Order: sequence, then structure tokens, then C-alpha cells
Amino acid sequence: MKNLRCDAVIIGGGAAGMAAALELDAAGFSCAIIEREDHLGGILMQCIHNGFGLHEFSEELTGPEFAERFIERVAQSKIAVYLNTTVTGFNAAPSGSAAEQSACKELFCVSPAGALQIQSRAVILAMGCRERNRGNVRIPGARPAGVYTAGFAQRLVNIEGCIPGREVVIIGSGDIGLIMARRMTWVGCKVKAVVEIMPYPAGLTRNIVQCLRDFDIPLYLSSMTTSIFGNDRVEGVEVTPMENGVVIPEKRFRIDCDTVLLSVGLVPENELSKAAGVELNGATNGPLVDSNLMTNIDGVFASGNVLHVHDLVDWVAEESRRAGRYAAEWLQGRRPEPQIRVKTGSNVRYVNPVRINPRRENQVYLRSLVVKNDAVLELRLDKRLIRSVKHRHVQPSEMINLKITPADFGGLNAGFDSCLEFSIN
Ligand SMILES: Cc1cc2nc3c(=O)[nH]c(=O)nc-3n(C[C@H](O)[C@H](O)[C@H](O)COP(=O)(O)OP(=O)(O)OC[C@H]3O[C@@H](n4cnc5c(N)ncnc54)[C@H](O)[C@@H]3O)c2cc1C
Repeated sequence: MKNLRCDAVIIGGGAAGMAAALELDAAGFSCAIIEREDHLGGILMQCIHNGFGLHEFSEELTGPEFAERFIERVAQSKIAVYLNTTVTGFNAAPSGSAAEQSACKELFCVSPAGALQIQSRAVILAMGCRERNRGNVRIPGARPAGVYTAGFAQRLVNIEGCIPGREVVIIGSGDIGLIMARRMTWVGCKVKAVVEIMPYPAGLTRNIVQCLRDFDIPLYLSSMTTSIFGNDRVEGVEVTPMENGVVIPEKRFRIDCDTVLLSVGLVPENELSKAAGVELNGATNGPLVDSNLMTNIDGVFASGNVLHVHDLVDWVAEESRRAGRYAAEWLQGRRPEPQIRVKTGSNVRYVNPVRINPRRENQVYLRSLVVKNDAVLELRLDKRLIRSVKHRHVQPSEMINLKITPADFGGLNAGFDSCLEFSIN
């Protein structure tokens, strides 16, 4: 077994991993990116549509163009990159005293050169997320060929050069499904419908407009896919409209198709985190982190889609740069200051991080549970309103970001046991 030692290891070489590693490198720490694919860039490499980088670079790039800008900087840095190398085990607390444990984490990897063991003082989790599949959403019916997740179909079309079918129905209106509705149309397929169980779309408004409306692709909201037909190959789907959350069987109808793409959500990739003892947030399936993006394990940080599923890569890069900077501060011996708890109030699905530092600027990301015009985001410290922010429109698919600074707390005393509650009214 080969052994390696460095200050920090970053698991995953997507936008998050590269952005975090560049900060650690700039701060003078030795670090390694471990990536299971044969290239850096992560999911960006199959997203050949444009719409990336408007905030980060003030221009509209494709996914590979966005990734390339980071890959070039990584190539010019001292960061060690291990490709085709999968982290299969993570021991965040090797035996020894508490001081020894905090000074050493062990990763076990499978690489083309054989087994690799890496010891580091800090670890950044940047493993991205994976797609939910048919099993996760329990669509009844037969098990024919022709059912794919939208992201896998994207890989087939954009990377392997293979078109998986001709007549397509997309189940779920997540962003990948919307992007694939347009992509499949461009490659000559007939996209017959997008079927969404919720009364509102799961994807960004800009994708509804640019990928469905511009191509006259019907979107059925409040509609459940109640069966997939076909024995060897998909022959169609059954769609049952819903009213007030209840299916109306007499209104069900069939759409003939030979291919079904599923765009029914993404789940942060946290098997390694769980095995290492990282506590997860039930609302995001990502690690619970403090305002320094540090998990419950000292020296283990998380950012990007492994932490919570982001809609824009720009926010992934922003968050991951901070993860890299906080990890560098931690390596320099700076320990997090006391922080106050964050709580979700009415109409808020989650807030990240779950603790914030009232004496420092905090970047907070949150998602609404509801679709609402003229919404007001309210922040209450121990039930006392300290700030309200007006939003013309909020919806679950569009992440809200907010900076919280010491000025928000005014002269109020935010002690250890204080709690900052976020609600949308
Ligand atoms: C289809 C699609 C369309 C999108 N469209 C847009 C858009 O138009 N505009 C926009 O701004 N954003 C868009 N996004 C969002 C944005 O691209 C992503 O949020 C961002 O790229 C995620 O970066 P990440 O590094 O967190 O994850 P990823 O890019 O998924 O990177 C994670 C990496 O970790 C590696 N990995 C995982 N586990 C291990 C392991 N055990 N060992 C080693 N390596 C491992 C994976 O191979 C992967 O390379 C889109 C996303 C998708 C999926």
C-alpha cells in the first residue's frame, strides 16, 4: 500500500473541490484532490448548455468552460491531483489522544496504482450529489428498458454521443429534466410532456421558459405518474391529475412514448461522511455545519452539492472558497468562536449553516417551502424581530442567499444559548 501525507485532502474534484483546494494552496498548505473520474470538473463536464458563471465571471459560460477556468488554475498550483482514484474509507478519528485524533485523519483509496492511504490534518468533503431514481419515487408498473435518470441520459447524449430513445416523457420538473427536454428536442426526439406531482415546477423559472415554453413542451403540474407501460421496452405512461393533493382516477390519461427520463431530485453523496461519524441534516441530507462550514468533526469541512443541492454553480464556488479559507484558518490553529443556533420557522425548508457567528459576517443559504409573491423573510433573535427582507417572489427551487453581519444584532446580546429563527411570511 502506498502512503501519502499532506495538510488537507479534498474528496471530489468538481467545482467545489477545486475552489476549496485553490484557497488552501494559496494559503501555503499542501493539499490533494482525490477524484474518481479520469478528469476534474465533476458534473459540469456533461452540462454543455450555457448559463454558468454569470455571478462568478460576469459572463455566460457552458459547464466545461466554467470548469476549465478552475482546472487551469489547479494545473498552475502545487495541488496534487489523483484521478481515477476513489475514496472508499474515511477514518476521521484514528486511535490516540484527542489532540492526535484532531491532528490526523485517514483516507483509504483505490487508485490505478493500487491501494493508497492518505493521512491529513484537515479534510474537505466535496463529493457532490446523485440522482434519485425510480426506486426512490416508487412509480408502479412494469420494468421495461428505456427508463433513465435525466442526468444519465445527459451523459449518454453529451459525452457518449448516444441518443437513448425517440419519444420522451420526463417525470419531474427538476432542472436536469428541463435541460434534457430541450436537449432531446435539439437531437431530434419528440418530448411529449413533463409531468410534475407538485403544483409548481421544481426547476428554475429561467429553465421553464427557455427549455419548455420556447419549445411548446407541455408541463402537467399537480399530476402523478401512476404507471409505466411496456414489457421489453417502454410503451407509455399513465398520468393521473390531482386536486388538493388527491388523485382523480377518472381523469387519468395515457401518453405513448418509448423513453422515460426521471428528474425527481438529487441527494447529497454522504455515505463516506456517515461512515466517518459526520452528523447529517435531515432537511438537506448533507452534513450539519457551523458558520465555518465545519462539521461536528474537528477539521472536517463540507461544501458544494454534498452539503446541500445548489441551483447555481456560482454559489458552489463561493461557498467552497470559504470552506477552503476556513480550513486554512483551522490549520493555522484558529478555532471557531462561540456561535448561536439557527432555527427554521414557518415556510422555511432549511437554512445552511445551522450555527452562525454574531461577531463575523456570515453567508447564509436557505430555501422556501412555499411559492409566494411579495414575501418577507424575517429573522428573529430569541423571538425578537431583528431584520426583515422583502422578496418579490420566492419558490422552493430558487435558493435565497443572505449576508448576516454583526450590525444585524445591534446592541443585542446574542449569547451561547440564543437562537436565530428564519421564517417567510
Ligand atoms: C444537469 C445539471 C444542469 C445544471 N445546470 C446549471 C446551470 O445552468 N447553471 C448553473 O450555474 N449550475 C447548474 N448546475 C449546477 C452545478 O453545475 C452544480 O451545482 C455544481 O457543478 C456542483 O459541483 P460539486 O463540486 O458540488 O459537485 P460535482 O460536480 O458533482 O463534483 C463532485 C465530484 O466528486 C467526485 N466523487 C464523489 N465521490 C467520490 C469518492 N468517494 N472518491 C473520489 N471522488 C468522488 C465525483 O466523481 C465528482 O467529480 C447544473 C447541474 C446539473 C446536474
